[in-house]
Amino acid sequence: MRIDLHVHSNVSDGTESPTRLVFAAQEAGLDVIGLCDHDTFDGVAEAREAGRRIGLAVLPGVEMSTRYKERPVHLLGYGCDPWNRPLLLELTKLRVSRVNRLQGFLDKLSELGMPLTAEDVQESKGLSPSLGRPHIADALVAKGYVANRDEAFAKYLGDGKPAYVERYATPIQEAIRLIRGAKGLAVIAHPWGPGAKDVLTGDALAELARAGLEGIEVDHTDHDPRSREMLTQLGARTGLIRTGSSDYHGIGKSHNPLGINTTRPTAYQEIVNRIAARGGVGPN
Ligand code: AMP
Ligand code: ZN
Ligand code: FE
Ligand code: FE
Repeated sequence: MRIDLHVHSNVSDGTESPTRLVFAAQEAGLDVIGLCDHDTFDGVAEAREAGRRIGLAVLPGVEMSTRYKERPVHLLGYGCDPWNRPLLLELTKLRVSRVNRLQGFLDKLSELGMPLTAEDVQESKGLSPSLGRPHIADALVAKGYVANRDEAFAKYLGDGKPAYVERYATPIQEAIRLIRGAKGLAVIAHPWGPGAKDVLTGDALAELARAGLEGIEVDHTDHDPRSREMLTQLGARTGLIRTGSSDYHGIGKSHNPLGINTTRPTAYQEIVNRIAARGGVGPN
């Protein structure tokens, strides 16, 4: 069984519709995907319907923008009730903050000699309810200012780069509580990717495990073999489930093909069992 527990559709900053994503996953030889769009569940119903039709399991998920010690941390929530009010309200707040920071990006890009309008970004965002920096990157590509998303992030949009603008992120302990309150299971995405590596220490992970965190993503392209080994040990010590994923974004992140990293069936089964035990939403 091949299980890829963190993929994106064009409902956030991936490039394929939920249906196409499910087809692509089957073509890539996967049996299970976890759909984890940024700050929204809007793609889940479509992906599950497509999965039911072709016999591919879709575990519902979300990738929440959180912070720990003022650093950005992405938190995956699996199996949540997608109608849970407190969680939905917080996701709405996150998406509003995504839109509110757009003007800041446009102002900075204009100062840098790369004028863009909100309409240009709207064009690249399409119908996604979750505006992301990759959409701004795509607008820069369409204008011919940069060649691709990677160049846009490396030169202008990445954290600390000249056009970067901060936004609201949920305190991670609160996000863990919200996910758990919605009968879901919280897993930190790419904990030692760029952003929070130095604050997400073994002690920090133990503290978050006490706050209800249940897993960490270990096998991810952001982690080198040494980091994976260390995270595996830390996870075992703190009783956290270890997962793996591609963090696929379609052609939006060309170095992350579907299934490049996977989750062990035993870890997946544990996640599914825990979600079922608390009445959350399991795979279709
Ligand atoms: P945002 O959530 O709007 O702050 O945008 C961050 C998202 O941009 C991340 O979740 C990644 O999916 C994406 N991202 C970060 N770096 C890159 C990159 N170099 N190329 C393409 N996408 C990226
Ligand atoms: Zn993304
Ligand atoms: Fe992420
Ligand atoms: Fe992601």
